[in-house]
Amino acid sequence: MDVTSILHNLNAPQEQAVTSDKQHLLVLAGAGSGKTRVLVHRIAWKIQVDNVSPYGILAVTFTNKAAREMRERIDELLGMSLRGMWVGTFHGLAHRLLKSHWRDAKLPENFQILDSDDQLRMVKRVMRSMDLDEQRWPPKQAQWWINGQKDEGLRSAHIQEGGDLYLATMLRIYRGYEETCERLGVIDFAELLLRALELWKHNPSVLEHYQQRFKHILVDEFQDTNAVQYAWLRLLAGKVSAVTAVGDDDQSIYGWRGAKVENILSYERDFPDTETVKLEQNYRSTSNILLAANAVIAKNAGRLGKNLWTDAGEGEAIALYSAFNEHDEARYIADRLHSWSNEGNRREDAAILYRSNAQSRVLEAALLQAEIPYRIYGGQRFYERLEIKNALSYLRLMLNCHDDVAFERVVNVPPRGIGERTLELVRELARDNVTSLWSAAVAMVTEKRMAARATNAIAAFIELVNEMSGQLDELPLAEQADNAIQHSGLISMHRREKGERGQARVENLEELVGACRNFEAEDRDLPVLPQFLDQVALDAGDRQADEDQDAVQLMTLHSAKGLEFPLVFIAGMEENLFPHKRSLDESGQLEEERRLAYVGITRAMEKLYLTFAETRSIYGTESFNSVSRFVRDIPKEVIEEVRIQNTIARPTSYAAGAMRSDQGDETGFQLGQQVNHNVYGEGVILNFEGNGPRARVHVSFEDVGTKILILASANLAAV
Ligand code: ATP
Ligand code: MG
Repeated sequence: MDVTSILHNLNAPQEQAVTSDKQHLLVLAGAGSGKTRVLVHRIAWKIQVDNVSPYGILAVTFTNKAAREMRERIDELLGMSLRGMWVGTFHGLAHRLLKSHWRDAKLPENFQILDSDDQLRMVKRVMRSMDLDEQRWPPKQAQWWINGQKDEGLRSAHIQEGGDLYLATMLRIYRGYEETCERLGVIDFAELLLRALELWKHNPSVLEHYQQRFKHILVDEFQDTNAVQYAWLRLLAGKVSAVTAVGDDDQSIYGWRGAKVENILSYERDFPDTETVKLEQNYRSTSNILLAANAVIAKNAGRLGKNLWTDAGEGEAIALYSAFNEHDEARYIADRLHSWSNEGNRREDAAILYRSNAQSRVLEAALLQAEIPYRIYGGQRFYERLEIKNALSYLRLMLNCHDDVAFERVVNVPPRGIGERTLELVRELARDNVTSLWSAAVAMVTEKRMAARATNAIAAFIELVNEMSGQLDELPLAEQADNAIQHSGLISMHRREKGERGQARVENLEELVGACRNFEAEDRDLPVLPQFLDQVALDAGDRQADEDQDAVQLMTLHSAKGLEFPLVFIAGMEENLFPHKRSLDESGQLEEERRLAYVGITRAMEKLYLTFAETRSIYGTESFNSVSRFVRDIPKEVIEEVRIQNTIARPTSYAAGAMRSDQGDETGFQLGQQVNHNVYGEGVILNFEGNGPRARVHVSFEDVGTKILILASANLAAV
């Protein structure tokens, strides 16, 4: 392994940064200029040329995925696998420290981590015990406030008593919350960082151990470190360690979570003997994409100022699609993706980015319908949780006892003495008779094919499901769900579970009942439960692509940081959505939105699509927004407007509909066809969803907007 290969494919300033022998290094540069690349090569350089032991290196990345990739890239450069080097996120590293030093950190050995939902629930519980009115003091706000304090390194004891009622109340909640967490031995995300910092502050010998060990510390995405992370870094570095920080002030997008872009400015002061390197050549994107990104970010004041250029050539224009509504937008994107993979490209080279998580549901539905595998990046969603899946399985069985997946899932949950051996017999009989598991189970009971105990257990389960489904038509949906979680014994099973998890599961089950209460059936004439389950199936992630399947990536703009894709869609380029309406009152926040737009645009390597919808239903309301100011800031020369929606009135040429035409034929209707409904009047067919008796149709009505109807019962007439 020779030195030249580490320096291979680096330009002059990149090489300067990789080989710098000043104690500290700061690389300040725009998107796609090779910051992460410099970090990786610098680590390889240290190990290979300066003979630094991997054991003495700590690298901080922004996501766990980035950490894995970094390790792989270094292994590849060095041609061997590294052990001993620590690579991870601030949170991951803090967790690792606390696990090793739980006693010094004053934690129980098996402390549990609260995710954001768990934390909110805990805050609610504390507030309830204080008899605080949730209307007046929204728990989310209290959660926000608490995390904000922690991000600044402040415990409740550090905060002055007094102040106005608001502050006094928040402080009271914070105190109660701290006590409860302490008592239960659980910690939230912000706490991980703060604890790890305090661990070092209060235990000099522990700190010294790590200071001795990590002589080289490298941090990617430095612009998004918060006060606690920065303090942690300084403490660890002490006077002797060498610190490398790479970042881009224009990509600071976590100000709302306490990140301080000012840390970049403090760096040269706090870490004397720093070499600062700027990188200006972008290697990622075409010049059209870069031009757009530069134009958008140019509107921000107070930038450190950078000049990004590329010699990659113009590339294609940026496509701008003005959709009729969010369904049309999603279908357009699905259609483009369809062509993309038909042209022989990999789906995983394409990403759909959006400002708000709530946008993903409609996009997902369109991808499912177009049978395009996709993966959502990060986060476990409500309907993916174990207890919710169990509860839904009961509901599914109530509706259709021959649902084998649901049967398998809950036949012995909660445990009712149906063992694996008994189940195997049931499966065998079902296979032999080519029936459902349910029918096989019924047969086994009536024919008494098993030992008495097993027979009784199965019989009890059958009776339970029969009883619940018997009431199906009489009860409102929420009561059906409530019945299911009560009678099945699910809720009491979780009540008996000890600790936070059990409590969280009980509350999730209760939330499910709440979701049922709020559910509005699209068709009041049809039974509501199947409609609800359909909706959930669309919402749930279980139709997401498998790990190793080639799949399109969906993620929020925030989680796209540091990544790159040949093909990028940014959906929902509308005022009030992006920039988010919360940000419009404050210029600081608007600047952060603008940086987020810059991050989004600069993810694209070859082709960028921006889409917006003229009307959009989101968060349960319909809105009419104009196109985002960020789109208007992009020079006209690099934008190409796509005008498909004009052809809605001329269905035969409706491009996005072409791939659906088979289904259209089956239903007797075509996309774009003019139809009449006896209540809603005249409208145009925008989309079909599902098939068989539950097939649905999206119709945009002239008077009442878009409705989704069950095709079989909508009685649509061609006009
Ligand atoms: P971001 O700000 O988005 O995190 P970055 O500055 O970290 O971007 P990298 O991800 O390191 O940029 O690099 C962007 C792309 O350019 C990568 O695909 C990388 O391999 C490529 N690249 C960087 N430098 C060079 C170079 N000197 N020669 C060829 N390709 C390069
Ligand atoms: Mg990077």
